Amino acid sequence: MEREELWKSVLSELEIQISRPNFLTWLKNSRLLDVKNDVAVISLPNYFTKEWVENKYNKLIISTLKNINYSIKKAEYIVESIPKPSVLSKDPEPKALEKQLLLQETKIDPETNLNPKYTLDSFIVGSFNELAYSAAMAVVKNIGTKYNPLFIYGGVGLGKTHLIQGIGNEIKSVYKNKVKIKYVTSEKFTNEVIWAIRNRRMDDIKSAYRSVDVLLIDDIQFIGGKEKTEEEFFYTFNSLYENNKQIIISSDRPPKALPVLEERLRSRFEGGMIADITYPEYEARVAIIKTKTQEKELELEQKIIELIAKRAQRNIREIEGILNKILFYQSTKGRILALEELEKIVSEMTDKGIINISPAQIIKSVSDFFEILPNDLTGRSRSKELIEPRQIAIYLLRDMLDMSFPYIASKIGKRDHSTAIYAYKKINDNLTRNTNLHQKIMMIKELVNKSE
Ligand code: ADP
Ligand code: MG
Repeated sequence: MEREELWKSVLSELEIQISRPNFLTWLKNSRLLDVKNDVAVISLPNYFTKEWVENKYNKLIISTLKNINYSIKKAEYIVESIPKPSVLSKDPEPKALEKQLLLQETKIDPETNLNPKYTLDSFIVGSFNELAYSAAMAVVKNIGTKYNPLFIYGGVGLGKTHLIQGIGNEIKSVYKNKVKIKYVTSEKFTNEVIWAIRNRRMDDIKSAYRSVDVLLIDDIQFIGGKEKTEEEFFYTFNSLYENNKQIIISSDRPPKALPVLEERLRSRFEGGMIADITYPEYEARVAIIKTKTQEKELELEQKIIELIAKRAQRNIREIEGILNKILFYQSTKGRILALEELEKIVSEMTDKGIINISPAQIIKSVSDFFEILPNDLTGRSRSKELIEPRQIAIYLLRDMLDMSFPYIASKIGKRDHSTAIYAYKKINDNLTRNTNLHQKIMMIKELVNKSE
């Protein structure tokens, strides 16, 4: 049987055996790369997934594989970023919107990895991101000398990628080819190092990274875990730093809360400039929406702008999503939308995340994620394997729905409310230090937002 066929049948078996959300989260993007003697080599899209699949599904995967190909005895998991869907697409005529997306993708500068759509000119500044923005401007004027490294941190969708790529694009347009720039996500960096080790090409990596003048590293929180990668990053960092090359880093949390980072790297980060991006307040959101609608040539009444600003509280990506959806509807319908239609879009898109979530949805998503029964999660059993799921459920009920602790306690485990407070605090404290926990929470939140 062909590899692809084999894996397809394995997946369809697995799909039956584990819950749907878990299948989608962990296995949908897996591939069978190779079968070497009795070992099946399976690729997964990132380290977190790899660890999870190895720990939870390895046995099941092997036994399923064995049923189909009896010579297979072991499975090996490796991380490999999956090709973009646009490359795989067999559709000969991509639709207008897809075409546009495709174009955007192909515009990425192969030398610097920068996407030209992220510019400092289109970066809206308010009190929530002023510090990070002025640090960015200072870096453009004084490459490698003023703030080095520049470390920018903030929550999801608040503009970290936009800002650091904006710095790169600005430097490129000011200094042209005199300055060599390289943008990379820490995940990509990790993959490259691992590939280089396996293929004995470390020298290529060293020379590629150590010859740049400006290195932009996005989402540094994902770098950890692999000693060799961190070590390579440390040497790259030092070599650039000592030669007065500019380093710019983004992260979802401050250096001191990066759990996996070696002390020596952490103190290097702390030696530069650290700037955070916080949540934009209401007025700033109104300003963002106004600017974005102008850019997109989308005319919206003040009332709708205010409605979006009131509802879209999570981040700028959410705002962008709503505006894109409105644009999309207008272009497919070929007309300006009526007020009620606009209101409907805004409510639908924001309600999903904030207002319509029920405690039952959270309980169901946590149970699905850990593959336990909702009744066990909420019940009185003191079984050890229920501890973490319960603490996470308590945390999410508080964090997403702001429920009172006595009420949460009555829902989960039927204990005293101090148990709920303890659980909430514990998760909340660990969250900043424990990347693994952080990822789990993010994935469960995604399940909640997707659930009906
Ligand atoms: P992060 O990397 O912090 O998750 P992104 O940089 O990807 O966030 O931003 C999410 C979306 O919001 C992008 O489309 C980005 O262009 C937009 N965005 C974020 N901050 C700003 C800003 N200050 N001005 C204009 N657009 C912004
Ligand atoms: Mg980003």
